[in-house]
Amino acid sequence: MFIDHEYIERLLDNARKSTAAEQEQAVVKAEQGELLTHEDIALLLQVRDTALLDRIFAVAGEIKRNIYGKRIVMFAPLYISNYCVNNCVYCGFQRCNELPRRKLNREEIQEEIRILEKMGHKRIALEAGEDPVNCPLDYVLEALDAIYETKLDNGSIRRVNVNIAATTVENYKKLKDKEIGTYILFQETYHKPTYEKMHPKCAKGNYDYHLTAFDRAMEAGIEDVGAGALFGLYDSDFEVLGLMLHNEHLEQEYGVGFHTISMPRLKKAEGMDLDKFTYLVDDETFKRLVAIIRIAVPYTGIIMSTRESAEMRKELLHYGVSQVSAGSCTGIGGYKEEEMGRTTEQFKVSDERRPLEVLKELMDDGYIPSYCTACYRQGRTGDRFMQLAKSGNIGYVCTPNALMTLYEYMLDYGDDELMKRGEKLILEETEKIEREDIKNLLTRNLALMKNGKRDLYL
Ligand code: SAM
Ligand code: SF4
Repeated sequence: MFIDHEYIERLLDNARKSTAAEQEQAVVKAEQGELLTHEDIALLLQVRDTALLDRIFAVAGEIKRNIYGKRIVMFAPLYISNYCVNNCVYCGFQRCNELPRRKLNREEIQEEIRILEKMGHKRIALEAGEDPVNCPLDYVLEALDAIYETKLDNGSIRRVNVNIAATTVENYKKLKDKEIGTYILFQETYHKPTYEKMHPKCAKGNYDYHLTAFDRAMEAGIEDVGAGALFGLYDSDFEVLGLMLHNEHLEQEYGVGFHTISMPRLKKAEGMDLDKFTYLVDDETFKRLVAIIRIAVPYTGIIMSTRESAEMRKELLHYGVSQVSAGSCTGIGGYKEEEMGRTTEQFKVSDERRPLEVLKELMDDGYIPSYCTACYRQGRTGDRFMQLAKSGNIGYVCTPNALMTLYEYMLDYGDDELMKRGEKLILEETEKIEREDIKNLLTRNLALMKNGKRDLYL
């Protein structure tokens, strides 16, 4: 199997014995933009010296700015079913928790989508527990239809990323046919003994089947896959190297690695006691992990959810996070329930602000919030996306798209204050675009949007 535990342990053991000079060498390699080896990544994970850490944060920040510019992609999760046959000891939906189990019917999904569209969302992550009887794949496929078909005024969901249990090639083909965006699946932990302990006596407990899910997804033609580890289950350094080996395996076998990496940290949930988890990751460690992943896989998007507080998210955006959720609910029918003042969630969220507020703060901090979904609709998936990213031309596509989708948001969902700030930002950013043809196209499209046109992209 491509996650060689002994190899990872050896890398970590050697790195633990390293000298400050050896660690600095790895930092210098990162600063010079050299390709990092597994040994280098293990060394970076050992750095505790504040001056060296500052250099790691600085490189991560520079990579982030060079590749992603000021853009931050926005999304929201949608929970459609909390039926679950699994026993994941950390999750509020685990089967032994006695809670009202339900799944949304078509009308309820549409209701949730209309609420999300009213918030301005264009991209969602569909979430469900695993239950072949109560939540079979056909139900998920119908949910996808319902989501893509639901339009409210100018609102529409244009990209649905899907986070559901590991499944078969045949099922992945069906998901691909429904034009999903990224297929997301977190390995939770790459450490097999811990994995088995965390998923006792249940379908998800098969480590190898879970680990090879992306192989099956890719065999089925899904090119964008989103990985993640649930930080807090096992040694975070092991997880980072696990993610790297998994990514390289996919690159070697299928020519393209992870499209995104999600970085969830374990949160309090029903039926679990956070104090029993001995590997919880503190804020300082978490910042290091984000920065090191940013350096190690520059072209892979890093996703941060509302599990993190507004302050933490703000800081992590500097070091590498490129996508954030906003206004999230983690309960079934959570958006409607929230409107009515009730929720039953999978885990606690920390950042409860509405998207409009999040957008304003992002703009105050110099970012361009983006609702862009153009790439996969233009066929820029898998290695075609990666080639564009690596060529450095991504800015010519993504920045104008970010500005257009921001303008769309301002016109349809913003207030006067956002409009004033947004117009200034769009003007300034348009001026900075070096290619005249792109600048002209953007200016023309913005004018068309002012006159009512929507969904313009490059
Ligand atoms: N049921 C599918 C699965 O387990 O892969 C996908 C959906 S599940 C709702 C999404 C993710 O939520 C899980 O992969 C897990 O990492 C995360 N999660 C579960 N319990 C959590 C907790 N207490 N704190 C933070 N994240 C949690
Ligand atoms: Fe079910 Fe997923 Fe929660 Fe596990 S993490 S109990 S599979 S919803």
